Amino acid sequence: MYSSTHFRTHNCGELNISNVGQSVSLAGWVATIRDFGGLTFIDLRDRYGLTQLSFNMEARAALCEIARSFGREYVIQAKGTVVERSSKNPKIPTGEIEILVEELTLLNHAETPPFTIEDNTDGGEELRMKYRYLDIRRPSLSQRLVLRAKMIKTMREYLDQRDFTEIETPNLIKSTPEGARDFLVPSRMQKGSFYALPQSPQIMKQLLMVAGMDRYYQVVKCYRDEDFRGDRQPEFTQLDCEMSYVSQEDVLNTFEGLTKHVYKSILHVDLPDFKRLKYADAIKLYGSDKPDLRFDCQIVDLNDDPHIKASNFPVFANAILNNQLVAGINAKGCAGYSRKQIDELVDFVKAPHRGLGGIIQIKYNEDGIIKSTIDKFFDESQVAQIGAHFNAEKGDLILIVAEKEAKVRKALGDLRLEIGKQQGWLKKDDWSVLWIVDFPLFEKDEETGETIFVHHPFCAPHPEDISYLDSDPLRCRAQQYDMVMNGWECLSGSIRIHQKELQDRIFQKLGMSEEEKEKRFGFMVNAFRYGAPPHGGCAFGIDRWVALFAHAEAIRDVIAFPKNNGGRDLMMDAPGEVDAKQLKDLGIKIDL
Ligand code: ASP
Repeated sequence: MYSSTHFRTHNCGELNISNVGQSVSLAGWVATIRDFGGLTFIDLRDRYGLTQLSFNMEARAALCEIARSFGREYVIQAKGTVVERSSKNPKIPTGEIEILVEELTLLNHAETPPFTIEDNTDGGEELRMKYRYLDIRRPSLSQRLVLRAKMIKTMREYLDQRDFTEIETPNLIKSTPEGARDFLVPSRMQKGSFYALPQSPQIMKQLLMVAGMDRYYQVVKCYRDEDFRGDRQPEFTQLDCEMSYVSQEDVLNTFEGLTKHVYKSILHVDLPDFKRLKYADAIKLYGSDKPDLRFDCQIVDLNDDPHIKASNFPVFANAILNNQLVAGINAKGCAGYSRKQIDELVDFVKAPHRGLGGIIQIKYNEDGIIKSTIDKFFDESQVAQIGAHFNAEKGDLILIVAEKEAKVRKALGDLRLEIGKQQGWLKKDDWSVLWIVDFPLFEKDEETGETIFVHHPFCAPHPEDISYLDSDPLRCRAQQYDMVMNGWECLSGSIRIHQKELQDRIFQKLGMSEEEKEKRFGFMVNAFRYGAPPHGGCAFGIDRWVALFAHAEAIRDVIAFPKNNGGRDLMMDAPGEVDAKQLKDLGIKIDL
C-alpha cells in the first residue's frame, strides 16, 4: 500500500497471515512494550490498527536493548519479516502475525502522555479535550472521524449525481435569523460595525436560487451562540441544500433518497419509506416533535371517557372542570415495577421542568388482578374500562396524569422515553427515521406574548392556511419539515416564500417595522423584485447524524476539535483575551 515511501511499506492494520515471509517496513507510535527477559514485544499503533513487533534477545541483543529503552508514544520505524505468531490474538485483524524486527529507527521520542492512549483510557473528559491531538490517537475517536468523512463523501456523491453544485458562501455576513444569538466579529475598517457569523447560509442559498444556480449544496459551518447541550456546539456543520422549482413533495423525496443512500452505503441498512407524521399528531401521540419511534407506546387521551368525565376523584374532576387534559400511556410489561421504581417515575414527572403533581397507576398483574391507585373512586369494572383504552393486558402498567395539556403531553412524552430506556426498547442498531410535516408557522413567545416564527421568517405558509394569516396566524401551518432519526432532529427545511408581497406580509406579522425590515433584509427583499423562482430546501445536522451512526452520546465526540459545555476550546484556551492594541485598532473599549 505504501511501497514507494521511505518510511513504510504497509500500515499497522493490514498485515495478516497471507503476508507471512514478506519483508516489510512499518512506522507508528509505541502503544505498549512488554518485556519477558528473552523476548520483548512492542505494539505499534497508527490509525489503521496495531501490529506486534517482536525482538529476540538471543538473536539480536542490541536491537532488543534499543526496543526496551523506548517509552510510550515514541515514534519509530521498524523493518523486518512477517511471521506467524505462536499465541494469536483473534480480537484484532493483525492478530495472527508479528514482525520479527531486523532494523529499528527512532523517529522521535515522546514525553509520557497525560493519559493512556487506548479506548479504555484513564483520562477524564477535560484532560482529553486539552490534549485532543492525543485523544484522537485513540482508535475509537479516530474511527469516528473516518466515519464522518465517509458519510460526507456519500452525501456529496448522491448530490453530485443529481445536478447539485457545491458553492461556498461567506462567513463574514450580516445576521441571518435562525432563532439564536449571533456571534459577532468587529470590523477594523469600519469601527463600531460588526459582521455576524452565519447561523446558517439561509439567505445566501435563497439568493443563489434567485441567481439561477438551480440546485445548491454546501458542507458548511454554522455558528449559533446558544446554551450548550450534548447535541449542540457553538459551531457545527450542516449539509445545507436548496432547490428551485420544487414542491415540498420533491424536496422530501430527494432527501429521503439521500438519507437512504447514506444508510445503505455506510451501514448496509435498507430503510423502508419514511413515515410522515403531522406535527400536531406527533405532539398529541408522543408528546414531542422529535419522537423516537423505535417503539410505539402512544399517549391516550381520556377526557371523553364517561367514568373520568363524571368522576368525583378530585384530580380528574378538577382537570375536567378546568379544561385540562387527562391522559396516559401503557408501560407494557412493567406491572412488576417495584415501589421504588414507581416512586422514581413519580419524581420524574414532578421534576420542576415537567411540573406534574403525580401519577395515577393501574397495574394489570400477572395473576389477572387489576390494582390501581384510584380503587377508592372506581369499581373494578370501571377501572377495567379505563384500562381498555390502552389495550392493556396482563403484565402492563398504565400511568395516567392530569394537568394543562402542554404539560401533560411533554411529561408523558418524556416518561415514554424514560420507560423505553429502562426497558431496553431503544436498541442501538434499530433505526427509526421519519418526517415531521405541517409545523405551525408562528408561535407565541411565552415570555413576551409576541408572535414569533417557529423556524425562520422565510418559510412559506401552507397554501390552505394563507387565509388565516390575518385572522388567526397561530392556526397557520408552514410548508416546513423535519427529519427525525431515533429521536434526534437531523434535518430541518421548508418551501420558501418567493413572492416579495408575501414576504413583506410575514415580516409585518412578526412585528417588524418598515425601517427594521429594510435594514436587516432589504437586500433580500430587493432581490425578490427580480424574478425569484419557487424554491425550497433543507439542512442536515451532520454532527448529529454522525454521532448517531457512531453511537456517540454527544456531538463533540464526532468533532475533531470541539468546545466543552462552557463553550471553551480547552486545547487552545479560547476564547481568550486580546491585547490592548488589537482592541484599540477595532475601536473597542472594555470596562470589566
Ligand atoms: N437554514 C435552516 C436551518 O439551519 C434549514 C433550512 O431551512 O434549510 O435550520
